[in-house]
Amino acid sequence: MKSILPRNVLWLRDKVDDFDPCNNAVYTSCGHKLRYDYMVVAVGLKNDYDQKHGISLNLDSRFERLSKKPHRSSVHSVFAGVLPEVLVLCAELQRWTGDIHVPKKAAKCSGAAQKIMYLAHDYWKKKNLHDSTNITYNTAGDMLFGVPKYATPLTKVAWDKNIALNYKLELIEITPKRANSWITVTLPYNFLHVTPPMSPPVCLTKCEELTNEEGFLDVDRHTLQHRRYCNIYGVGDCTSSPNSKTAAAVGEI
Ligand SMILES: Cc1cc2nc3c(=O)[nH]c(=O)nc-3n(C[C@H](O)[C@H](O)[C@H](O)COP(=O)(O)OP(=O)(O)OC[C@H]3O[C@@H](n4cnc5c(N)ncnc54)[C@H](O)[C@@H]3O)c2cc1C
Repeated sequence: MKSILPRNVLWLRDKVDDFDPCNNAVYTSCGHKLRYDYMVVAVGLKNDYDQKHGISLNLDSRFERLSKKPHRSSVHSVFAGVLPEVLVLCAELQRWTGDIHVPKKAAKCSGAAQKIMYLAHDYWKKKNLHDSTNITYNTAGDMLFGVPKYATPLTKVAWDKNIALNYKLELIEITPKRANSWITVTLPYNFLHVTPPMSPPVCLTKCEELTNEEGFLDVDRHTLQHRRYCNIYGVGDCTSSPNSKTAAAVGEI
């Protein structure tokens, strides 16, 4: 990181605890008070695994355990930063009844869950295992992808791969008994990939002067300038701009 920073930039390895926009100040977790003339907020989104009952309890991100017991029912999320481990598990499973779940509320990279799905499918196809695998993609939304231009071809890709698509299914709970429960339907799995609900970090959501009702930095969608404090700007996933929460969104603005 240091090597790409301009020479006159001071990098503080610290964390924002509180914003004080009325006094142009930021308080950090190491106890510093930083003053600013202008501020750009770019704190991203955090994963809220605890918002859905059973995700944290069952989330298995320990690679060693996965390798030793590849056939147990397991719950995973590439959002927990374990993509290589998830792929190794895919490689070890011979039979797969897999579910992929995507929530309705803003989540970064709505395509990430599809990536793990297509990677796994591709691997099993190469190993001639696709007849013994079964993939279901469940999304709380009403399309496979938020942008219609891409949703149509992606839906065809999923159909061609024999992937079952369920829309408007919001994950309610994961139980350790190998089932995920909605109000009306329970789906069995031996491999479950979950996209967790997400929200802006607490340092933002607790500062009501800076945020909209959902806790996002309240910016003008065209200028990214804060709607009340003109010396504050925001970029990225933590802002209220209506684009999807992806790095590629920079091209939409
Ligand atoms: C698995 C995965 C795959 C993805 N694939 C794609 C893709 O293919 N294409 C695409 O366009 N997008 C993709 N995305 C989404 C993309 O990564 C995000 O949209 C993008 O990183 C958002 O940038 P950001 O700067 O707003 O937030 P982030 O990249 O999340 O950065 C926020 C930073 O703020 C820091 N921070 C948080 N709280 C504090 C605090 N209190 N004080 C100080 N610092 C703080 C964090 O540590 C982090 O470094 C993917 C995301 C994931 C998780």
